[in-house]
Amino acid sequence: MESTEFLIVGCGPAGGIAAREAARAGVATVVLERDAVVGAKRVCAAGLRPGFCEAFDLPRSIVHCNPPLISITTAKRNYAFGVGTAHTTTREELDGTIAALARAAGADIRCGMLFRSLERERDGVVVEYADYRAGTRKKIRARSVFLAPGSSARLDAVDPRFAHRDWNAGLITCMQYRVYPQSPAIDYAYGVLEMHYYVSPRSGRNVIAWMFPKRDHLSIGLGIQAKIPGAELRAELDAFLATVERRLFAGIPFTIRTEGNLLYGGLPRRAIGADRVMVGGTAAGLVDATTGEGIHEAATTGRLAARSAAASRAGRVRDPAVPYERATKAAFYGRLKHRHHLMAFLERKPARFDVLFEQLEATPVFANLLQHDRNDFSALQWMYLYAQAAKFSLRAMRA
Ligand SMILES: Cc1cc2nc3c(=O)[nH]c(=O)nc-3n(C[C@H](O)[C@H](O)[C@H](O)COP(=O)(O)OP(=O)(O)OC[C@H]3O[C@@H](n4cnc5c(N)ncnc54)[C@H](O)[C@@H]3O)c2cc1C
Repeated sequence: MESTEFLIVGCGPAGGIAAREAARAGVATVVLERDAVVGAKRVCAAGLRPGFCEAFDLPRSIVHCNPPLISITTAKRNYAFGVGTAHTTTREELDGTIAALARAAGADIRCGMLFRSLERERDGVVVEYADYRAGTRKKIRARSVFLAPGSSARLDAVDPRFAHRDWNAGLITCMQYRVYPQSPAIDYAYGVLEMHYYVSPRSGRNVIAWMFPKRDHLSIGLGIQAKIPGAELRAELDAFLATVERRLFAGIPFTIRTEGNLLYGGLPRRAIGADRVMVGGTAAGLVDATTGEGIHEAATTGRLAARSAAASRAGRVRDPAVPYERATKAAFYGRLKHRHHLMAFLERKPARFDVLFEQLEATPVFANLLQHDRNDFSALQWMYLYAQAAKFSLRAMRA
């Protein structure tokens, strides 16, 4: 049977960064990716937080626009924040570039390979996968495994310790149009990330919608929690598109490419590391439920998994899943659990969105702090955050 040191499932930002950083550290790394081409089928608005390319050593050439402004619209009004220059890209460029860098560092990325199952052995893990190209089932033995298959992760059968009862309830059905106007939209469109929170007049459901600008197109999409029939989602998106068109590219002919995918917006998975197997990115449930962002979280888990795999190779840790789980939970669980509860609280009474956004608009320091991971905060910043949170809770309860 073939063997390697580090086996990764999925070549999104989590798997790709894990592959590049493990290979750079000299760890023999194999990636199994289901799709025929890395990144080609990923559906995503592909907004990157300020500093993402520098943090993950990626070329700025993947960046399409650098919007300095975030605009949030509710049923009541529009709010605008400047919280540092964000970036937009496409997933074919982001994932494709990370994969190319991982290959250059020595990782063996294999496309058209579907992960099926794994079995523990005394000193490693045996992974079974389907090789679509050869039309055969194969096995590979690895010292450690990083599972990063995104929102389609069904891990209960892989290892019952990774089971997450509420996984399906956390899924958000998304549809997105890539809108290609024949001539550029108004200038404003390329300097802003737009988020919209509203209750659909058609279905009464809470909708989160967005417009993210790209060099040659606008990503215009929306998501609704629960499984939504395609026709209902399309009607909702067509209505939203009409409002964006009126404001940003009225009278300009355009073509559309339709994309659909599931986003996860529930609580993080309870267990994400056991006996040499680590779970990362969206498969670990690491998405900000208030914004749908998960690329930074995914890439960070890739980095943490690669570090643990390298430490295991060097004999510094027996089971790399232990430090991996500890570090990932410390980095993200506090913030992401809070974001999940906050979103549920806001959606129960949508007037609460305005209470929050009015406060964020009035206190840019608060808005800025919320963009950062909790382990970056000083004691003083924590006190300030608690004071702002208490103020918000009191006002929101009255809304
Ligand atoms: C519509 C939409 C818009 C979004 N917009 C943003 C945004 O603007 N900014 C942001 O930060 N986040 C956004 N997100 C979230 C972001 O896409 C995810 O958080 C991120 O992609 C997670 O990366 P990942 O590597 O964990 O998983 P993914 O990117 O989903 O990658 C998983 C990979 O695993 C592969 N795979 C799956 N199953 C198998 C298998 N059995 N065997 C082998 N390979 C497999 C897939 O083909 C894929 O390549 C958005 C999500 C959606 C759905």
